[in-house]
Amino acid sequence: MTIGILGGGQLGYMLALAGYPLGLHFRFLDPSPEAPVGRIAHRVTAEFTDEQALEKFAHGLEVATYEFENVPVQAARFLAERVPVYPAAAALEEAQDRRREKRLFQRLSIPTTDFVEISQPTDLDAAVKQLGLPSVLKTCRLGYDGKGQWLLRSPEDVVKVRPELPGVPLILEKFVPFTRELSILAVRSRSGETSFYPLIENHHRDGILRLSLAPAPHLSPALQQAAEQAARKMLEALDYTGVICLELFEVNGKLLANEIAPRVHNSGHWSIEGAATSQFENHLRAILGMPLGSTASTGFSAMLNLIGELPESEEVFRVPNTHLHLYGKSPRPGRKLGHVTARADNFEKLQQRLTELPAFFQRPEFCLHQTQPDTLANRA
Ligand code: AMP
Repeated sequence: MTIGILGGGQLGYMLALAGYPLGLHFRFLDPSPEAPVGRIAHRVTAEFTDEQALEKFAHGLEVATYEFENVPVQAARFLAERVPVYPAAAALEEAQDRRREKRLFQRLSIPTTDFVEISQPTDLDAAVKQLGLPSVLKTCRLGYDGKGQWLLRSPEDVVKVRPELPGVPLILEKFVPFTRELSILAVRSRSGETSFYPLIENHHRDGILRLSLAPAPHLSPALQQAAEQAARKMLEALDYTGVICLELFEVNGKLLANEIAPRVHNSGHWSIEGAATSQFENHLRAILGMPLGSTASTGFSAMLNLIGELPESEEVFRVPNTHLHLYGKSPRPGRKLGHVTARADNFEKLQQRLTELPAFFQRPEFCLHQTQPDTLANRA
């Protein structure tokens, strides 16, 4: 059985690595001739909009999926006329536009940040008046890792941002003074079987995920239940198949939904060694309509992203219960090159393990000693 995957980055790479032991084959389509999956699978280099290439790509596939959420919806629809595509193109469409995402949260009564839609730059003043400051201005589409975002703290910031604004739809969100950022990964099989991973605590720096702790420390059953309830509503409303990630802010013990990613997610990489079944294997099982594997965590895990530069592999290998993953990309500032997962039986031991990591990891960007959350305000 061959699985087709749109996008050839590290998420696709890890999907294939999870699928090989299950006897699966993989074919990828990505516009970049450097896409890391080229090392381990058949890679077609073509634009997502190249219908001739898509047609050829689809030939003989069992099922297709994506590892990149900004695949043009039209490409997913075109493919879906030829092979089953999961999650459905409609889910991709909802997740690609922050306005649609927010409206969906509201329709499903999932608490989310207050927001105002801005269709043209001249709407900005009225939006600021309505929501007040501080607020966060975001492009509706193609924003990721903190790109396409402006924190507006004062009227001067509003004046300053105006000439910088791209001529695209935006939303203004109320600034959330969250205590922490969390995410939940949920998975639903073609059969409707659904399962949830434990909530994950995420630490960002400069808008990029640096550290995930799973299960999130001090996780109450009530918080887990609230997250599962919200994720379940999303899965059902979208008639979703595969893994989805719901990103959340925790504020005064309550959850506010920030956004969804209709794919496997960076905050779930710990599940490769830290859960009974990884997010990657469960995504494959789900899109093939197979029974899901247990999503239970086995002990406590910390996942550290390797951004822009790499530690000495040997130094990482020296730390017990610690695993190195390299994606085969050439180093470039800001680029996700790999990750490390450290594991322990309990959270105290995990904290101890993190102190044993090489000096490379004892830097502020890994947030290991951070006392304040990486809110936009702390960052600015
Ligand atoms: P996003 O692209 O929406 O995931 O935002 C990137 C990061 O910016 C989040 O992980 C938060 O750290 C921060 N952020 C986004 N929206 C808000 C908000 N409304 N209030 C405070 N911080 C935010």
